[in-house]
Amino acid sequence: MTAETGAGETTRSFEADVARLLHLMVHSVYSDKDVFLRELVSNAADACEKLRFEAIADPALLDGGGEPAITLTVDPAARTLAVEDNGIGMTEAEMAEALGTIARSGTRAFMERMAESAKGGESRLIGQFGVGFYSAFMVADRVDVVSRRAGGDTAARWSSDGLGTYTVGTADPAEAPARGTRVTLHLKEDAGAYLDPDALERTVRAQSGHVPVPIALRRAPD
Ligand code: ADP
Ligand code: MG
Repeated sequence: MTAETGAGETTRSFEADVARLLHLMVHSVYSDKDVFLRELVSNAADACEKLRFEAIADPALLDGGGEPAITLTVDPAARTLAVEDNGIGMTEAEMAEALGTIARSGTRAFMERMAESAKGGESRLIGQFGVGFYSAFMVADRVDVVSRRAGGDTAARWSSDGLGTYTVGTADPAEAPARGTRVTLHLKEDAGAYLDPDALERTVRAQSGHVPVPIALRRAPD
């Protein structure tokens, strides 16, 4: 399903396998929800690495974007946690492809094992495979992504409540990073622990201590 919802925004359905995976994430009883942070930080680091690689052939891609960095921002008043990078970024089309389908072998393997495994086996499997971006829905009831592709002058946005559809469209460049991607999680009622900077820092150390890009933590001004 694809529908124009105005303001250049389109509502689309997730691929069937993604919808199944999301259902699992939303209703997950998997206790080690911290893995979502590892997944988002690893995507941010991958994006910085992709930029470094593409810039070998096209150094202008690095213009004005600064050194590779990942910034986590907690906003207790808004109950949001944002993971931002200044990496390669995504166009609108890339967002719809990357965050609407299961093109990835790891997630496919996960789904295949899920189909075989007895009911209740998902917890073990989530830990085993690492289910990527969609794991954000273990702790968030809405996820917004705003991105600007390196070298591009337009920005794109993606948003979903993880319940079957997502929207993609153009974003106001003023709300997007100068380069790269910001993933904003609207935290569920029971995920408030991620709003505590000290607790978050410990979790980042435990989950992402080895990441080759510096990670900064900040609290949104009141
Ligand atoms: P994987 O990292 O294994 O490919 P994910 O589910 O974690 O799977 O992410 C899916 C895809 O979404 C990535 O392959 C990438 O194309 C895109 N993506 C996710 N986060 C970012 C980001 N911060 N910057 C650029 N692309 C991203
Ligand atoms: Mg990933």
